[in-house]
Amino acid sequence: MFKCGVCGYIHEGDAAPKVCPKCGAPQEKFTQLSEEGANLVEKSRVTNDIYVQLLANLESVIVLAEEGREEDLDPPCNKLFDEIKKSAIEYRQSIKAELQGHMNKGKWG
Ligand SMILES: [Zn+2]
Repeated sequence: MFKCGVCGYIHEGDAAPKVCPKCGAPQEKFTQLSEEGANLVEKSRVTNDIYVQLLANLESVIVLAEEGREEDLDPPCNKLFDEIKKSAIEYRQSIKAELQGHMNKGKWG
């Protein structure tokens, strides 16, 4: 893997690209990642992908909780659906904040 020294773009291959596809920096700006660095990028990709899947699932949870609330069966059910929706929204915000942190630290493949 080769990393652009200007924007942090990661290129996979035997050699760095002629120009960075993201920022247009020349090939000389790229450095080859160590094996340790490449492993970290790979791990970050897997983790980020899991977060993205969790976000999609949390959206489903929110929609279901809203549907449950609309049925308006009884106060305990309404309370539970409200709590589920609130928790799902909180998790969603936490995941977005974590992903934003990864991007700021360059942990985004
Ligand atoms: Zn770049």
